[in-house]
Amino acid sequence: MVLLGDPVGHSLSPQLHNAAFQAQGLDLVYLAHAVEPGALADAVRGLWALGAQGANVTIPHKRAVLDLAEGATATAQALGAANTLVRGASGWRADNTDVVGFVRPLDSYRSRLSGRPVIVLGAGGAARAVVYASLVELGASHVTVVARRREQAAALADDLGAIGDIRVATSQGAEVRDAALVVNATPVGMGDGRTPLDVSLLHDRHIVYDLVYRPAQTPLLDAAETIGAMTVGGLPMLIGQAAASYRQWTGRDFPAETARRIALTALSDD
Ligand code: NAP
Repeated sequence: MVLLGDPVGHSLSPQLHNAAFQAQGLDLVYLAHAVEPGALADAVRGLWALGAQGANVTIPHKRAVLDLAEGATATAQALGAANTLVRGASGWRADNTDVVGFVRPLDSYRSRLSGRPVIVLGAGGAARAVVYASLVELGASHVTVVARRREQAAALADDLGAIGDIRVATSQGAEVRDAALVVNATPVGMGDGRTPLDVSLLHDRHIVYDLVYRPAQTPLLDAAETIGAMTVGGLPMLIGQAAASYRQWTGRDFPAETARRIALTALSDD
C-alpha cells in the first residue's frame, strides 16, 4: 500500500498500517511517497503495474485521482474527491473513507444531531467530507460553512448543494450558538496555540469536533471541555478512515486500539 500526496512526511498512516499488518501477520507494507501533481497519473498506473493492492491519496490529489480510477463509490462521486484506491479486477475503485471516519466517533450522539444545524469552520477538502457526512449520514437540518475566503465556501456550497441545505457565512456569531455540532476543519490549533473561533460563543450543549489531531488535545478542545461541551478530537477520525481503507484492502478488521496507542506515542514525541 502507498500514500500518494505532497507533502506526506508528517503522515501517521505508514506507522498505523504497518503496525496493523504486523499485528495480523500480513505480508504487506505501507509506504508514503511525495508525488507532484504532474506525476500522479504515472504513479497510479505504476502502482497498478506493480500489483499494489491499494493506496491512500491525500492533498493535493484527492480530486484528480477520481479521473484515474475505473469506478468510484457513490460517496466519492458525490464529494468529487477520494482518499482510497482499492484494486479491482481491471482497474482501481476509488472511495472516500474520510466520511465514515468522521461519522463513526459521533455514533453515540446521532439522536442529538438529527434535524439540527451544524457549523463547519474551513472550506477545504476535509470540510467537504464533513458537510456531506453531516447532511447525508447525520441528517443535519442544514450546515453553515464559515471560511476566511467567502468564494471558497460558496464553491463548496455550489458543488454539494444538491445533497442538502448548505449556507455560507463569513463571520461566526448566531450560527455557532445555534449549532448542535461545531467542527473545526481548518489547521488552526496545529501547534500554534490558537483557536479557530471565539470560544465565548461555545456552550455546554455543543458537541465540538476538532479535526486537527496534532496535537491530540488542541486549544479548541481545551476551551470546549472547560465550558462543559462534549468534545471529539481528530485522532478517532484518523483511525476511522484508516480502518475503513484497511478493511477494503485486506478484508480484515483494523486493530484500532493498537493503532491508537501507536498514534498517541508518535504524537507525544512531537
Ligand atoms: P485544506 O484543503 O488545505 O483546507 C483548509 C481550510 O482551512 C481552507 O478553507 C483554508 O482556507 C482554511 N484555513 C487555513 N488556515 C487558516 C487560518 N489560519 N484561518 C482560517 N482558515 C484557515 O485542508 P484539509 O485537508 O481540509 O484539512 C484541514 C484540517 O483538517 C487539517 O488540519 C488536517 O490535518 C485536518 N484533517 C484531519 C483529518 C483526520 O483524520 N483527523 C482528516 C483530514 C483533515 P484557505 O484556503 O484560505 O487557506
